[in-house]
Amino acid sequence: MKFDYDVIIIGSGPAGFSCAMQSTKFGKKVLIVEASKQNLGGSWISKGTVPSKALRAASKLIQSFESQFGDEKGRKPFERFRMEDIMKYKSPILDSKNKKYVDDIIKNEVQTVRGWGRIAGEHDVEVVDFQNKKKTYTAEFILVSTGSSPAEPVNFKVDHKDILDYTSVLELTHIPRRLVIVGGGIISLEFATTFAALGTRVTILNSEPEMLNFLDLEVKDQLVEILKKKNIQIVNEATIERISYNALRTCNEVLYKTKTDNRLQVVETEYTLYVGSKLPDTDKIGLDELGIEKTDVGHIVVDKSYRTSVPSIYAAGDVIGQPSLASASFLQGRLASAHMFGNRDDAMQGNRDLPFGIYSIPEVAGIGLTETQAIDLGIDVTVGRAYYESLTRAFLNHESDGILKLVFRSDNLKLLGVHIVGEHAADMIHIGQAVMAFDGDIKYFIERVLNYPTYAEAYKIAAFNGLNRVHKSGVKYRNILERSEGK
Ligand SMILES: Cc1cc2nc3c(=O)[nH]c(=O)nc-3n(C[C@H](O)[C@H](O)[C@H](O)COP(=O)(O)OP(=O)(O)OC[C@H]3O[C@@H](n4cnc5c(N)ncnc54)[C@H](O)[C@@H]3O)c2cc1C
Repeated sequence: MKFDYDVIIIGSGPAGFSCAMQSTKFGKKVLIVEASKQNLGGSWISKGTVPSKALRAASKLIQSFESQFGDEKGRKPFERFRMEDIMKYKSPILDSKNKKYVDDIIKNEVQTVRGWGRIAGEHDVEVVDFQNKKKTYTAEFILVSTGSSPAEPVNFKVDHKDILDYTSVLELTHIPRRLVIVGGGIISLEFATTFAALGTRVTILNSEPEMLNFLDLEVKDQLVEILKKKNIQIVNEATIERISYNALRTCNEVLYKTKTDNRLQVVETEYTLYVGSKLPDTDKIGLDELGIEKTDVGHIVVDKSYRTSVPSIYAAGDVIGQPSLASASFLQGRLASAHMFGNRDDAMQGNRDLPFGIYSIPEVAGIGLTETQAIDLGIDVTVGRAYYESLTRAFLNHESDGILKLVFRSDNLKLLGVHIVGEHAADMIHIGQAVMAFDGDIKYFIERVLNYPTYAEAYKIAAFNGLNRVHKSGVKYRNILERSEGK
């Protein structure tokens, strides 16, 4: 072999991991370079996805217990449960995920080296280790999967004491009574509902005109109602002026202005959690020296096969921008490998409708076109709705807030989009995804037996609801059924 490795992967997060695993399936020699001394797995295992979900799972458990059994003394969860116990819940989960990661790379004979990786040529990666020793490795291909980090906040600093970020919030020693979250994205919503489930009063200060503007409008309206019930206050178009400690009132104060009201306003809090936008970690890794194209904010520009402007160098995961999710990063890393070593045409095939899942309480998920997007595209669509309150399973579990909405073509009932807010949304979305991937229509949900009681029943109810809307008299529906059955 001309090179030391077939592929060198810089960064061991989901994109790097999946590229490594897929490359070993092609029988290739793989090296992962990881800058973290402690962990492999990037934001996925130790800092972001899994730990935040572990905290959510513990809070959800407490919320379910509370809603089922209450408390005879009327105490709030933060008076009954200890953060220490909640945090203990996550340790075995993280340990087991870390162990599985290491087991997988050992089993698949992926080599790793710890240190700062930098591209030193079209086939060269220089690694500076923790003793400042440099070594250069060569490979036929290089994958850049160095991920992203939170952008620096404006007008205040994260001190990890009173002002936290998504890593230090997971080190809290007690459940806060009050929490201000600065930032209005997915992670903000997840932490807001996780802490609200523990009885914390949460305020979200969002700099944008609205939160999560990519959601289907009805799903968003439902979500806003749910957040109101949970006493979560959302302030849009807020600019933080400063955050300071008020010794007299023994609390922190977040001072902010909004676009519509230029007066300085104050919200008292125990902690502030900063979850602003993410910036790609693409500095000081040799991209500019090689002329690899980047966007203004630093995302690496790639083609459909995740190849950069230098053909031997690929990029995947948060470094290439939206959707910046572990789920998408896994796919991108695998496809990059498939393009390097497999059949290039095959690697580009397949349905690429990306679902998203937001692990708030309750969850939010979506795939395909929203109703508004479909209408804007000039497609004649109808929607079908199922409210969680009509699902026996949701009722049994005291989780009856939510809606599932199907968007389908009025003429042939083909499913174009599914949008859900409600428990198990992130799992449920994959039923719709499968039907869409096989070009299916909403009759699937009506004609098949679905287990009962399940959350999946929402698909059946929404399909009936949609059909009723299209064919109020039932005549057209009969015609469609007869046509599809070849009568
Ligand atoms: C709180 C939180 C919750 C989240 N929840 C979800 C979720 O529920 N679902 C979901 O799909 N996504 C979620 N995400 C997003 C997800 O974590 C990221 O999209 C995903 O981890 C990105 O993967 P990646 O491989 O691009 O990079 P990362 O996971 O960021 O990994 C990059 C790795 O590269 C290493 N590195 C950086 N520079 C160098 C260098 N020069 N040399 C060597 N190594 C380097 C880093 O140390 C790191 O280990 C969440 C994120 C956060 C912060």
